[in-house]
Amino acid sequence: MSASAAGSGGQIVIAGAGYAGLHVALRLTAKLRDQPTVQLTLVDRHDYHQVITELPRVAGGTRAADAVRIPLQDMLATRVRFVQTEISGFDLSGRQLITGAGPVGWRWLVLALGSRPNDFAIPGLAQRALSVYSASDAERVWAAVSKALDEAAATTDPERQRRLATVVVGGGGATGVELAGELAAILPQAASDHGLAPGRPAVQLVEAGPTILAGSSPQLIDKATKILSDLGVGVRTNAAIAAATEDGFRLKDGQLVQGGVFVWAGGVEAPELVADSELPTGHNGRVKVDRYLRVLDHPQIYAAGDLASVTDPRTGHVLPPLAQVALEEGETVARNLDAELRGRPLEAFTFHDKGFVVSVGTRRGVADIAGITTGGRLAHLLKDAIEWEYRQSVRHLRGWDPVAR
Ligand SMILES: Cc1cc2nc3c(=O)[nH]c(=O)nc-3n(C[C@H](O)[C@H](O)[C@H](O)COP(=O)(O)OP(=O)(O)OC[C@H]3O[C@@H](n4cnc5c(N)ncnc54)[C@H](O)[C@@H]3O)c2cc1C
Repeated sequence: MSASAAGSGGQIVIAGAGYAGLHVALRLTAKLRDQPTVQLTLVDRHDYHQVITELPRVAGGTRAADAVRIPLQDMLATRVRFVQTEISGFDLSGRQLITGAGPVGWRWLVLALGSRPNDFAIPGLAQRALSVYSASDAERVWAAVSKALDEAAATTDPERQRRLATVVVGGGGATGVELAGELAAILPQAASDHGLAPGRPAVQLVEAGPTILAGSSPQLIDKATKILSDLGVGVRTNAAIAAATEDGFRLKDGQLVQGGVFVWAGGVEAPELVADSELPTGHNGRVKVDRYLRVLDHPQIYAAGDLASVTDPRTGHVLPPLAQVALEEGETVARNLDAELRGRPLEAFTFHDKGFVVSVGTRRGVADIAGITTGGRLAHLLKDAIEWEYRQSVRHLRGWDPVAR
């Protein structure tokens, strides 16, 4: 449908159909059953929702990109008007989103546009390293690995072969660890398939800080480091990247980390269009909100997910950009919009941490849940279960809607 048809003064517009935005749309569909005149509009550049937490598997070639793209039409009820278009800006005083399909007016706006890779202005990084932030990105990583293995198999120079068959991952957070583990587990078989010795490929994980998985318990870090080592991943900590050059990642101490494929997983920042807006922003350009998740000085705009800068009052720290956080924030935003419509008091956001799970390779993982650290097969099964449960919950929420198709 066209954006202008969707635009009107009395509606709730949700910008972004990721973890936070889709959750708001699905929850509100169910909550507003008895309020059929309230229009719900969801805007996204894609007509599918991406299960981003599964991207390392796409990058490792064990899952097809289409398997992590869930068509929105399979999830949204007729009640939700979906506008597929690029959002290019905000007219805050006119209460309109500026989009490729024309302006979309709101009475309440939910900003849930996620984040983008942050290259920290490291020279050459944006040009030379791949990222893994969408199904297409992840597909590109696997294609680049396959091409590098082909080239490695075609050369007789052992040095060149070793370099081409090496994947270098920058950033030792959860994304970098998952990606490095997945690739290290897959590459021996992939090498054989390309006519190379299974031991030829290598994965290097480069982290600027003193440890991988910064902020996690020492036990979890030890277990993850051990699994990575078993998989043959070379982990370099205290290794800040100064530049990405033709030859590889140049570290601040002058060393060169060579490889055939470079992937950057070193952090995220808010989308550019948020930085260019007049919205109040904090660290990494994330939008500042009050305790009800309303943007400061803009009570009719809510923000949720990676884009929102939400401080946990118990720790005083801004919550990390995680799907788990995005979903909980989406839940509070949906409740508060429902409360606004019914003239009820708003609810302050509280984060209920369910724990931290990272898969390392195709069979093992690490988890910190309720103060208990586990590593190995169980943690990997837990990660699989979380992803399965997420897909089920999306279907379940849709199932609650009486006007579901
Ligand atoms: C590889 C990887 C693995 C991860 N693994 C985990 C994990 O295991 N557990 C975990 O908790 N977190 C994980 N995360 C983090 C998690 O994916 C994010 O925190 C989560 O996606 C944030 O949800 P969101 O709704 O804020 O944004 P997103 O899910 O990114 O959704 C944003 C939406 O906005 C749309 N959009 C953006 N800009 C525009 C525009 N200008 N116009 C139109 N549409 C637009 C996008 O198309 C997208 O649909 C991982 C992240 C990555 C990159």
